[in-house]
Amino acid sequence: MITREEEKKLESLGAFEVSHNMLKLAKNNEKHNVFLNAGRGNPNWINTEARLAFARIVEFGVLESQRTMHDGNLAGYTILDGIRGRFESFLDDSKDIDKFLRNIIEYYTNELSIDGDQLVKELVDGAVANNYPVPSRCLVNIEKILNMYLQKELYNGVDLKDKTSVFPTEGGTAAICYIFNSLKENKLIKPGDKIAINTPIFTPYLQIPELDDYEMIEIDLRSKEENKWVISSNELSKLEDESIKALFFVNPSNPGSKALDNQALDAIAKIVQKRKDLIIITDDVYGTFVNGFQTIYSVAPHNTLLVYSFSKLYGATGWRIGLIAANEKNVFDSLIEKLPEEELKKLDERYGLVTLEPRKLKFIDRLVADSRSIGLYHTSGLSTPQQVMMALFASTALLTKEKDPYIESSKKLVASRYHDLFSTLGIDEDNSKENAKYYSLIDIYALAEGHYNSDFRKYLENGFEPIDFLLKLAEKNGVVLMEGVCFGATPGTLRVSEANLPDDAYKKIAKQVLELLSEYYSDYEQQK
Ligand SMILES: *Cc1c(COP(=O)(O)O)cnc(C)c1O
Repeated sequence: MITREEEKKLESLGAFEVSHNMLKLAKNNEKHNVFLNAGRGNPNWINTEARLAFARIVEFGVLESQRTMHDGNLAGYTILDGIRGRFESFLDDSKDIDKFLRNIIEYYTNELSIDGDQLVKELVDGAVANNYPVPSRCLVNIEKILNMYLQKELYNGVDLKDKTSVFPTEGGTAAICYIFNSLKENKLIKPGDKIAINTPIFTPYLQIPELDDYEMIEIDLRSKEENKWVISSNELSKLEDESIKALFFVNPSNPGSKALDNQALDAIAKIVQKRKDLIIITDDVYGTFVNGFQTIYSVAPHNTLLVYSFSKLYGATGWRIGLIAANEKNVFDSLIEKLPEEELKKLDERYGLVTLEPRKLKFIDRLVADSRSIGLYHTSGLSTPQQVMMALFASTALLTKEKDPYIESSKKLVASRYHDLFSTLGIDEDNSKENAKYYSLIDIYALAEGHYNSDFRKYLENGFEPIDFLLKLAEKNGVVLMEGVCFGATPGTLRVSEANLPDDAYKKIAKQVLELLSEYYSDYEQQK
């Protein structure tokens, strides 16, 4: 058995490390139950259409390359002239995937007035990947496609696609690292600065600002269970404090899964009218799991950098594909312009290595240069197959005119798991449209009070470390969940991911939680 001292030590680790420690316990659980790990946010489904399309483009790319040189496994380069026509003859309409590809070419050449040969060549060369990414920030037609996708899925009708620049990155993970780093390098955030964060939140947003490299002061904009994880306008009004430099927001949140509603978005739009210098980073990785989702970027475009990832929706965490989007006109560029001359001179030296006019280098391009330590700017940019894969995932959504059946299915999947979990636990479900249901937080103390009484709740709160229930759940019952405290939630809350386990697991998890709770209750009764 683990002692209370050992539990305290574990509580000082990050959520992902604690979870890792529990896996062994759970696999050898005392009850010999099937091991269930609901700690993971990695989805257990994939999008097939975009992947098959990618494979077809590679196949065509090889044939096309053999037209210019062909000696065994050695082939040449593709040729622009007439490539669209050759691609269309290659496609076989008895195959659904080929019809999809034909529609892609037709749709983008019409909608975006892109030259068909240019588009096909970009996709084919990108998939064959025989050139560095040029332009390094983003391939030109792929940027247009990504902009259409962001607009359709995240802006809720606001038209920003022609005013937005995109930087594809190695997942949302790299996007977050690059942003923190470039904000620091460009003196937009400094040690001692106050930054606001919507808690509970994805752990890196809590951990990175506290590192020695950053030493920032975190101001929590709290959402609470009793408000169904909705962030109140009172909390948002903290942003009127001029000493707060930046707002880091995950929307819908992880682990609360709640998206900002219209009222909160209006409040933010009003705040940035007063606080024109406020920096906002919004991480909208789970946006598509909410009906009628709207991003902060669409209500405060000049203040906001948007982070998106294809990992979760398309089951593509291994591809490492995400992006940073910024408006052409933005607070990042104007804050850099207003830096003291001394700071600007230092930045001239830094970016002068890659451009003759460093002061004209936009923040989004600084992100690209910084992502490869400036010195390797000429070989920066996301790998071209990754960019093509993103464009293909985006196309699966764009080619369905209204609601995308794939996105609808993914929402239904997590929602039915959420329903199984909550109804079996006997907790009220939150069926508001802002609930993404990708994760949920279960308050063990509230559950104890609801199923038993408030005295039993106090016994749990006072008699055990908050992590005790989580560890016993692994050790005895073989179920791994995640500690909410690490995400900035209150003690005793556990995060369940609705993404990663077979559908029938969620009722089982709920039953194991209730069973363990009843065992605590027997001990409590005996001690009374
Ligand atoms: C999963 C996740 C990410 C990281 O996504 P990747 O694209 O897989 O790196 C970023 N932000 C949040 C809130 C996440 O939950």
